[in-house]
Order: sequence, then C-alpha cells, then structure tokens
Amino acid sequence: MKYKILASCLGCKQCFRICPVGAITKGPMKINDDKCIKCGECFRRCPSKKIIEVKENV
Ligand code: SF4
Ligand code: SF4
Repeated sequence: MKYKILASCLGCKQCFRICPVGAITKGPMKINDDKCIKCGECFRRCPSKKIIEVKENV
C-alpha cells in the first residue's frame, strides 16, 4: 500500500505541513515514495479527500 495525491488536489498544503518526514513536495503536490513511511497522516488530514491509498504494484 502507498499513498497518492490526485491531480484534482486543491493545493492547500495541509498534507505538506503535516508529513513528519518531509516526503511531500510542492507544485504540484507529490508524495516521494522513497521517503514516505506510510503513516497515513496526510491521507487523514486532507480536507478534500484528494489523497488515496493505492496498491503498491499498481
Ligand atoms: S503517509 Fe505519512 S510519511 Fe507518507 S507522505 Fe503521508 S504524511 Fe508523509
Ligand atoms: S491536503 Fe489535500 S488538497 Fe491540500 S494540498 Fe494536500 S492533497 Fe492537496
């Protein structure tokens, strides 16, 4: 399982601020899978539900 930010992200940057390991980069918002520890904080925080859980090998 990994996390992915949808293209319809509104750019509010709440996920960027909450990520404990700095795995999210701005403009456009993107998750660096090599840094992400899969904590799910961004997934829970996004007010617009623009972060989804996806299967690792998809
Ligand atoms: S799941 Fe956790 S570590 Fe990964 S991008 Fe989201 S907040 Fe950062
Ligand atoms: S919290 Fe959601 S809407 Fe805001 S920048 Fe992150 S993914 Fe986009």
